Amino acid sequence: MQPSGNLHIGNYLGALKNWVRIQNDYECIFCIVDLHAITVYQDPAELRAKILEIAGLYLAAGIDPKVCSIMVQSAVPAHAELSWMLTCVTPIGWLERMTQYKAKAAKQESVGDGLLQYPVLMAADILLYQAGIVPVGEDQAQHLELTRDIAQRFNSLYGDTFVVPNTSLPTVGARVMGLDDPEQKMSKSATGANHAVALLDPPEKIRKTIMRATTDSQPAVDFDSMGPGVANLLSIYQGFSGDTDEAIKAQFAGMRYGDLKKRVAEMTIAHLEPFQQRYRQINGDPGYLAGVLREGAARVAPIANDTVRTVKQRMGLYVE
Ligand code: AMP
Repeated sequence: MQPSGNLHIGNYLGALKNWVRIQNDYECIFCIVDLHAITVYQDPAELRAKILEIAGLYLAAGIDPKVCSIMVQSAVPAHAELSWMLTCVTPIGWLERMTQYKAKAAKQESVGDGLLQYPVLMAADILLYQAGIVPVGEDQAQHLELTRDIAQRFNSLYGDTFVVPNTSLPTVGARVMGLDDPEQKMSKSATGANHAVALLDPPEKIRKTIMRATTDSQPAVDFDSMGPGVANLLSIYQGFSGDTDEAIKAQFAGMRYGDLKKRVAEMTIAHLEPFQQRYRQINGDPGYLAGVLREGAARVAPIANDTVRTVKQRMGLYVE
């Protein structure tokens, strides 16, 4: 996750919740990607604070630093190093086609090169650790495809080096939409007051934002003809409750939108309140957080350095 803006329920349902679910089944590395954050200007003091905030949110969600590694991208220089080597095998046309690049570049007066290189750095984050599976939200699926293309291109030029990773998307919550505009994905950088529910929003604010969510001109839930706003509210509810599709239909068919929103708000608050309590406890101990990040980086750096060494050898760079 990028330490920019406020993490929201899209980040939680699309990614964080699933990370917690799989952490005991795989050897997991969870990265806070501060080098990605600076592809657009960040206030330095705010960025520093955000990095610790995200680490606290990972832990509050239930990521266990005893069974997996939590680390900050810039603390392991191999990320930037491999990124450069991969840049040199990536055709610029592949990068210019990326939907996220086009959307972000359209918002900037002057587009920094980092914005174009963003997915190459992401490929480095993944390929450095020979990752088999990358659990992300749907918005990252295109970058994962690009990562696979870059890995395959490198392997065909220099010999088998990288594991070609698979994408893992959640069945519910892979693309949580904006509450004010269900045609747009919920995004940290959107500015509308009713766009997102942030993970640290107080209950009253959560209730207000959800009660104001855009629906459609029908009065009640009709599973055969519902618009994207209602579908989004139902999938937020299902993401938190874990109910089956049948259970969701049985509970909500014919329900008036006002009541649907109340149910979604209460379900969201019931999940976020204990989460926020845990966050406040963890955040009160910055020494502990710093220790978790230090240990995480120390644990993963040897894996990353090994990969960089192999890549250098394969490319003919100078290695003693
Ligand atoms: P980012 O916001 O780019 O730092 O993304 C962190 C993680 O959250 C990535 O795995 C994204 O795919 C996921 N994510 C971001 N926004 C959403 C959303 N609206 N719905 C579902 N997943 C999301």
